[in-house]
Parts: sequence; structure tokens; C-alpha cells
Amino acid sequence: MFYLSTRDKAIKVLHSQAILNGIAADGGLNIPENFDELKFNPQELESMSNLEISERILGSFFTDFTKEEIKEVVKKAYVGKFPDNDIAPLSAVGDDFVMELYHGPTCAFKDVALSALPHLMIKAKEKNNVDETVLILTATSGDTGSAALTGFADVPGTKIIVFYPKTGISVIQERQMTTCKGKNVNVCAVEGNFDDAQRGVKQIFANAEKLREEMPGIVLSSANSINIGRLAPQIAYYFKAYKELMKNGTIKCGEPVNFTVPTGNFGDILAGYFAKKMGLPVGKLICASNQNDVLTEFFETGIYRSKRPFHITKSPSMDILVSSNLERLICMVAGHEKTKEYMKKLAETGEYKLTSQEHGTMLAEFDSGCANDEETLATIKSVYREHEYLMDTHTAVAWKVCQDWKQTQTDPGVNVILSTASPYKFAGSVIEALTGQKLEDTGFELMYKLHEMTGSAIPESLEAIKDMSPLHNDVTDKNEMQNYIIEKGRN
Ligand SMILES: *Cc1c(COP(=O)(O)O)cnc(C)c1O
Repeated sequence: MFYLSTRDKAIKVLHSQAILNGIAADGGLNIPENFDELKFNPQELESMSNLEISERILGSFFTDFTKEEIKEVVKKAYVGKFPDNDIAPLSAVGDDFVMELYHGPTCAFKDVALSALPHLMIKAKEKNNVDETVLILTATSGDTGSAALTGFADVPGTKIIVFYPKTGISVIQERQMTTCKGKNVNVCAVEGNFDDAQRGVKQIFANAEKLREEMPGIVLSSANSINIGRLAPQIAYYFKAYKELMKNGTIKCGEPVNFTVPTGNFGDILAGYFAKKMGLPVGKLICASNQNDVLTEFFETGIYRSKRPFHITKSPSMDILVSSNLERLICMVAGHEKTKEYMKKLAETGEYKLTSQEHGTMLAEFDSGCANDEETLATIKSVYREHEYLMDTHTAVAWKVCQDWKQTQTDPGVNVILSTASPYKFAGSVIEALTGQKLEDTGFELMYKLHEMTGSAIPESLEAIKDMSPLHNDVTDKNEMQNYIIEKGRN
């Protein structure tokens, strides 16, 4: 299986190399050469276990791994980490279904991919005779950091350093990171905001040559969602949801299902599009955004316009103006040459415009919508009142967008809403939604308050960190991040 750069189809790498490289040599993203080799007939699903679905998909993406190796990756990624080895339980809520992707170790959907990526990466190292230690560098605004730390902790041949902004993340998110065990993990607060931390990490990647000299035996990599090794594991839950809907009699094999996805970097929803290209009967993929509605505008007009005000919202993991993974969709609808042109325009002017034909191709597969904070909170409250179902802010954005979309359809069909975080991870906003009270972020107190109010269970992994003392208390100036890496990388 070859992967091509989204910006130049002459730039090719083989399967597991794509995981190691993360990004193509010309700055584009890796995309499968063709989807025919990836075909997965949904009739096969009936006799498959959840783990077998993941194996089937990862095996077709990374053809240089043996069956045994893939089995081992999937086992290490999921067994004992997700209840009943189920990465995505489905709940019926009203007429629709909510796919809960947050039952992993850190209670957000990024666990699904970041539990698998480290094991894919060490296998890829073996296959490509890479002896160096892979050092993962990540800047996080919250969810990615703890999922990446937990995924890479004590994985041999890897080290990980996570930088998070000292201001702007929640008490629980910080505690999830600073209590992370593992001999190969480092967590460091940066004096500044998320942009400062992110800029620091980007500069370090740009300066990788120098760091190579300073840290012999180390190669730098990223756990960012542009890595194909993060995207591929996510495809599994679309197939798994389909299997479950056949099993419970909601659909017959071949009938379409629509998915609404709370979207930030466009990784989660793109995995759904890949599933469709592989043969899953997906109807519409509905892209849900918060007040940062750059994608809604893009789907409506065909114009991507990144120069616009940035809003800090109650669904912070979707606060983003440039969705990196969108580049893969652009390549699939407009081709490599046009993608190169559009990405150049985006970098230079902050915008680009699809032709009406390209826009039309995209709209045959996707729809979109957005919800602001007020609508998000009102949705949490009304869904809880009507269905006794508690959802977090990100899920609520998607729920609202899905309901609005259904109103516009004569036959809305079967709809699945992806739920990306536990309500306990965003307890302050959920309490505000239910009571109208705006509370100070006191961390664990909020969790217990939400539990008292609703009687729903606090996820074990979140409750467990309450009594754990922080293992990491490093803080660095934003201009000193490189020195911090050199110091930790050498040891
Ligand atoms: C990362 C994240 C998202 C957005 O997912 P993308 O793949 O970046 O589109 C949505 N919700 C939560 C809770 C997340 O952590």
C-alpha cells in the first residue's frame, strides 16, 4: 500500500513509513494511493468482534505488518483499556443514536487513536530498521496531551514531552497530565497561552537538524492528528456502529446511516469519509462546528476563510481556525495539483475558493451546521430533561446540528451522533447548562456536584486522579522550550 502526498502524487512512501514520517516530504499529508485495496464489505461485519474490525482496517492500511503484528497492536491498544474492549458503545437517545467514544483512559475520543499510535509506531520502527528513540513532542490545549501521555507511557523505544499553557486549561485536565506515570514521559507548563506553546513546538520542528546534533540517537516525531497512524484507527468505530445497527434491527445491510461529528481538526469526520470510500454505506457526514464556524462557511460557500476572529468557547477542543485534515478531503475532491495551489493560497492570503464543480462534489457527501455556546448549553439541558441523557459540550454541538439538519430533510433516515468527551471532563459547563449557575473551576468539586445532581457515574479514571499527587511540576519560559527538550531528550 502506497501513500501519496496530497500536494504531489509523485511523492510516495510505503505503508509503515508514512507513520514514521508523519507528514509528506513536501509538507503535504499522506493519503492512500487508492481505496480499492482497502475495500471492506459490510456483510463481513456480522461475524466480526470489535477487535477484529480494528485489525481488519489497520491490516489493510499497513500491509507490511503481519497479521500477528496487527493483532498485537490492537490488543495492546484496547484490551483492558476500554470497558468490554468496546471503543464505541452506542446509546439510543430519542429517535437517534449516540456513539460514545469517551470510555478510554482519559475520557475523550482521542484515546481511540492515541492508544494505537504508539504501538503502530514501534512496529513501524522495527520494519524500517530505525534504531533511534522516537521523541514525541506535543503542545496541547487539553485533551490531546493526556491521551498522548497515557498512550506513550512506558512504550519501549519512545519518549514523550508534552507542553501545556499555564493559563487556559482546566484543573482536571492539568491534573490528568501531571499525574501521568511512565519513565519516558515529561510534562511541562509553558509560561503563556496555547499559541505560545504551539509556536514553540513548531519552531523546534523547524530547527530539527540542530537538535539532531545535540541529541544523538533521537528522532523527533509528533502525535498530531495529521499522522495517518492516528487517522486509521478511528475508521473502525464507524464500521462498528454499523454492525451494531444491523444487529439491533435498525437497518439491513446496505442501508445508509448518517453521522454527525463535532469537528475541530477534521480528523474524526474524515475517518468517516474514509470508511465510506472503503465501502461502508454512509449517507451524509454532517460537520458540526461551534462559534468558530469556518467549516460551516466553507461547506456553504466553497470558500475557506481563515482570517476571522477566534472565539474561546465552551467546546474548547473544537476552537480552531485552520483544520489540517481538511487538506485530505480537498485532495480527494480536487486532486493533488489543485490542493498544492489552494494550500499555497491559504498560507499566503488566508483563504482559497473551490470551483463550483469541486464544491458540488463535496456537498454530495457532506453537510454542515454550527451551534453557539448559548445553544450548546440549552441543548445539554433539553436533552437531559427529555431523555435523561447527559452529554458534554462538544457532543451537544453535534446533537443540535443533527436535529437542525433533520428538520431540513423529508426523510432524515438513521442518524448517529458522535460523542467525543465525558460530561465529567467539562463538568463546569454541564452544571451551568443544567442550573444556569456559573461556577469557578474548582476541579474535583465540580465532578462531585454533577454526580449529586444527576446520579450518573463519575468515570473511574477521573475519580482516581483526585488522590494522586502530581509527579511533574516543570515550568518553562516560552523561549526556553528547546533547552528543556535537549535536557530531557539526552537523559
Ligand atoms: C479533538 C476533539 C474534537 C475534534 O476532533 P477532530 O478530529 O480534531 O475534528 C472534538 N471533541 C473533543 C472532545 C476533542 O477532544
